[in-house]
Amino acid sequence: MQKKLKLEDLEEEIKVTIHKKAFEAKKLHCNICDKEMTKSYIDVDIPETSLSIHLEAFRCQECGKEYLNGEQAKKLDRAFALSNVISRKGVIYERAGNFDGSNVFVRFPAQMIKSKNVRAEIMPISSSEFFVHFKKQKN
Ligand SMILES: [Zn+2]
Repeated sequence: MQKKLKLEDLEEEIKVTIHKKAFEAKKLHCNICDKEMTKSYIDVDIPETSLSIHLEAFRCQECGKEYLNGEQAKKLDRAFALSNVISRKGVIYERAGNFDGSNVFVRFPAQMIKSKNVRAEIMPISSSEFFVHFKKQKN
C-alpha cells in the first residue's frame, strides 16, 4: 500500500512515528494496541524540492498508526537535511579559500567534523558546488 504524505501531515506525525524499539526492529508492535504491525510503504515529499523519498514503514491494522524503524527514520532525516542544503535554509559555514598557486585550501575545524584523522571524498554537484564526505582514515 502506498500513500502520499504532505509536509503538514509529517510535522505532526514525525514526532510520534519513531518507535521505541525502532533501531533493531524487523517486527514491531503498536504502542497503543499491542498488535503486530505489517509492513507498508510511504512516499514522503521533500519540502522545497520536487523530490520524494520512498520509505518502508510499519502500519497498525487496528488503529492505522504508522511507524518508521531507525534506519528509515535516518533516511528521512538525511533527506530533510539535503532539502535544507538545496534550499540553503540549513546551517551554512563560510570559510575563506586560500590559494597556493594551484590549489584552493578550505579549513574545516576538527571539532566540526569530530575527528582529526580523516580523508575527504569530494563529490561535484556543479562547478562551484561540492558534497564533501569525511571518513575516518585507516592507518
Ligand atoms: Zn494500533
